[in-house]
Amino acid sequence: MNGHPLTYLDNAATTHTPRQVYEVFEEFYAGYNANVHRGIHELSHEASLAYERAHDRVADFLGADGREEVVFTKNTTESINLVAYGLSRHLDEDDEIVATEMDHHASLVTWQQIAKRTGATVRHIPVTTDGHLDMEVTSDIVTDDTAVLCAPHVSNVLGSVNPVADLAALAHDHDAYAIVDGAQSAPTRPVDVEAIDADFFAFSGHKLAGPTGIGGLYGKRELLEDLDPFLFGGEMIRNVTLTDSTWNGLPWKFEAGTPPIAEGIALGAAVDYLAELGMDVVRDHENDLAQYLLRELADREFVRAYGPGVGEERTGLVSFNVEGVHGHDLSSLLNDRGIAIRAGDHCTQPLHDRLDIPGSARASFYVYNTRADVDRLLEVVDSARDDLDAYLASDRYHDSIS
Ligand code: PMP
Repeated sequence: MNGHPLTYLDNAATTHTPRQVYEVFEEFYAGYNANVHRGIHELSHEASLAYERAHDRVADFLGADGREEVVFTKNTTESINLVAYGLSRHLDEDDEIVATEMDHHASLVTWQQIAKRTGATVRHIPVTTDGHLDMEVTSDIVTDDTAVLCAPHVSNVLGSVNPVADLAALAHDHDAYAIVDGAQSAPTRPVDVEAIDADFFAFSGHKLAGPTGIGGLYGKRELLEDLDPFLFGGEMIRNVTLTDSTWNGLPWKFEAGTPPIAEGIALGAAVDYLAELGMDVVRDHENDLAQYLLRELADREFVRAYGPGVGEERTGLVSFNVEGVHGHDLSSLLNDRGIAIRAGDHCTQPLHDRLDIPGSARASFYVYNTRADVDRLLEVVDSARDDLDAYLASDRYHDSIS
């Protein structure tokens, strides 16, 4: 990138895809491209089998009890919307929805809108200054009025790992649904939805070595059976008359229309790839890189990192600010050296308000990153203030604003 070997540190936004994953597209389109669950012909049969098997592989990966519990969606955002709309039938002005201050907008905005439509109230579990959910006040926030509790498993800014099994148990004590936003956990650590006892768990394929356009929603079978579909049309129906329709079995009831077939099959290849590496190995590798970066940043008094500190449990993403250098400027200096990070509010504006900062720079790792990548990042961090001053005094800068 920009004449340098690529150092890709924007994995919390999107990961790169291994060959096993992107080759699925050629195999599918050159080999057995056909619609699923429709034709009697051989190609459709082959495509249907591969697409169904991908659901089985994802079910294994998440510890779900079979393909019926895994709905393919476009991404985490669509998965959360699917549950939220489905559950909205049960919500009214007597109900409370419990979310968190560290929510991604995918969750935060969705529950806000559901509350506006149903009359329910949203309450937020606060975040402590050291970047954890404040569990001490959580038991006061979750009450018998709580109908839904939705929390991120891992914060996409702080890297903190939330005690989602405890939150699910607390929700269940009050007969509330427990929903987990797993966008940042499914790619980075072993996940067992049954051990968490989550009612629903949302994730995206493009963050776990899969393609874009595909993600999923785990749901307990009996809850999915009870949930109203979000989209209507072909594929999701069983019988249709001019006046009424009945729904297909799980998970197809929630997959209206022609699904993203190749993407779904490729998602199956992605989770197989990760399972083969071992998710505990992925977690430890990420942790090693994050801890290395955190230790190095802690030695620099001009840098402030957010979230759990050195030695604490967290995932492989680190958000930080360099004194006197806006995150976008840092990102731009890094870009010039072939290093990709993300800067901004990371779709968590209320969390940045809580931290009292307009934005942050975020470096996030995946299986292919090394400590040498961290060293390259640090080199630019160390020279960023001088480089920015030099740039502001340069003809290049003056030309760009004149
Ligand atoms: N939740 C969290 C915690 C995330 O990090 C993200 C992606 N940044 C999302 C939800 C939304 O994911 P997607 O854009 O794939 O729907």
